[in-house]
This record gives sequence, structure tokens and C-alpha cells, in this order.
Amino acid sequence: MKMTYILGPCAAETHEQVWNTAVAITALKKKMDNASIIFRAGIWKPRTNPNSFQGIGSQGLRWLQEVEEKLALPTATEVATPEQMRLALEAQLSHLWIGARTVANPIQVQELADALNDYLRNHPRYITIYVKNPVNEDAQLWAGNIRRMQNALGEHGEVVAIHRGCGHRPKWEMPYFLRHEMPEVNIILDPSHMAGCRERIPTCCQQGQNLGLDGYMIEVHPQPDNALSDGPQQLTPQAMEELIGHMQARKDYDELIWLRTIMDEVDDELWQVVAHRMDVSRAIGDYKKKRGMEVVQPSRYQDILQRRLAWANTHHLSAECVEQMMDTIHQESIRHQA
Ligand code: PEP
Ligand code: MN
Repeated sequence: MKMTYILGPCAAETHEQVWNTAVAITALKKKMDNASIIFRAGIWKPRTNPNSFQGIGSQGLRWLQEVEEKLALPTATEVATPEQMRLALEAQLSHLWIGARTVANPIQVQELADALNDYLRNHPRYITIYVKNPVNEDAQLWAGNIRRMQNALGEHGEVVAIHRGCGHRPKWEMPYFLRHEMPEVNIILDPSHMAGCRERIPTCCQQGQNLGLDGYMIEVHPQPDNALSDGPQQLTPQAMEELIGHMQARKDYDELIWLRTIMDEVDDELWQVVAHRMDVSRAIGDYKKKRGMEVVQPSRYQDILQRRLAWANTHHLSAECVEQMMDTIHQESIRHQA
């Protein structure tokens, strides 16, 4: 199986920037004959801040067409409205992705699916639609969106899932669910948006290799520090080449590796919650100090413990485990309040 690499800037900024990046990625493609290389550049950017760069708009379609025609490099862009879908298809792009904000809304995704289906009825050709995961940790919604696009494509293409995480962290239970629910769907990783900074990209990619994922979408910009969007997470073409050189081989699907990866993530969340509890504990400590109150309040501790024991009973946790852990956490809390 060929791995898919979708490489290019977060956003198309200028004709020169698009062309130079595409030339650099074409050079990389020549060294990666065992992979399908696709160029990416967003032209309609879903930005949080209305005063930031919103994308170059439809004039960028001409720059992407030029990359396809002159460099024979397949090109992908993001579409978020039926009009953008129609314009991108009319510009002969065959790789389109639906972003993490759009996929939160199934009505919007269905409108995109209908626009795609309308176009294909009159102009049948092969299209690949990439569907990112929604950032609200809803794997069912991700699967539903993929089905909407599969139904719209019919025989005329393929849907590929992109795991971009939730916020700047992975949520491995989502692709795990998808692998079991829709084993025929390829899943690629977007370590750029998952990490949010270039330093963490290699670790994310290696996790993708260990989990047997099917490829990557990675943001590549000739001058990341001058990028108009997502600068801190973009790689130079040279850094991209080095990353590929350092990645260890992709493993086959292994249930235990998946479950352990999910467990590591749960542990990470668990310890962050413990650390957060101590932040709250210190604030309570300050309150008590100001009012001359005792740090240890036995009745309050008994109240917390009894409520947790009743809860544990309905969550398959032994009373012994809850008592021991609660005591350890309580001792640590006292230390933070002292
Ligand atoms: C993008 O790929 O540039 C993008 C906006 O990603 P996401 O929708 O995952 O935030
Ligand atoms: Mn981006």
C-alpha cells in the first residue's frame, strides 16, 4: 500500500509562495517513489480572529491549477460552503478536504455532499474527499460525515479520514473507533494541527507509523516564520525531508499498540487533572490561611470520601482503590496547602 503525503502551506498567500513550495515538494516527491504526494494550500481559511488573514480566496484556484498542470502535482484545498465546493470542482481540483470547524455541523456537511453530488451527476470523474475529525471529540459524528460524503461520491471517488486531534492534542479513541467501524476507510494524520508547534511533529508522526496509519497531511512553508497563518507549526521543505528520513517504518495494525496508546493518553489526562486539583487546592490553602482556618477539616474529607465511595460502586471501582487513592490525593493536597 502506498502512503499518502499531503504537503504544502497552511494557506496560499502569494503566487510566488505557492509556486516555490510546490517546486520544493515536487523535488521531494522524486525521492519518495513509494508514496502518493499531494500538494495542499488553503485558499478559504476558517480563522478564529476576523482581523487575521482570511485566505486569498478564489483567485488562488488559478495558482493551484498551475501547480497541477505544470508540475503534474495533484492539489488539495479546503472547502466549507457549496459555492466553494463548486468553484474548486470547476477548477478541476480532485482532492478536497473538509475542515475541523465545518464538520461540527452535519447540515453544512450535507450541503457540501449535495453540491458534490450535483456536480458529479453532470461531470463524472474521480474525486477524493478528506474529512477531518470534529474538534468536539465526537467519533460518531466523524463517521456520519464520512458516510455523507461516501453517499455523495458513489462510484466516483473515495473518502479518506484525517485525524487532526482536538485542540492541540490527539484523541486516539476517535481513529480507533473509526478503524473498527469503517475498516475500509484510510486514515491519515495531521500532526501540524494536532501539535500546534513544529517541535512536536516528529513524535506525532512516529505514533502514526506505530499505529499503522495510512499517511500524513503536514504543513510546509518556505519561510514558516513569515507565514500569514499557523507559522509556528509549519516546516520548511528541508525540515520536511529530514522528518521523512528519521521516521521509522510503519507497523501493521496492532490492537495492543492502539490500546496502550489510548491508555497513555488517558494517563496523561489523569495526571493533568491531578495537577489541576492541586492548583485549586493551593487557592483553598490561601483562603484558609487568610482566615486562620485549619488546613485539615475532617468532616469535609469524610463527605468527599463517602460521595466518591457511592459513585465508585456504580463504576466498577473497588472501595479499597478509592480509599487509597483518595487518601494519597488528600495527603498531597495538605502538602500544597501547608
Ligand atoms: C487546515 O488544514 O489548514 C485547517 C484549517 O485545519 P483544521 O480544520 O484541522 O483546523
Ligand atoms: Mn493551518
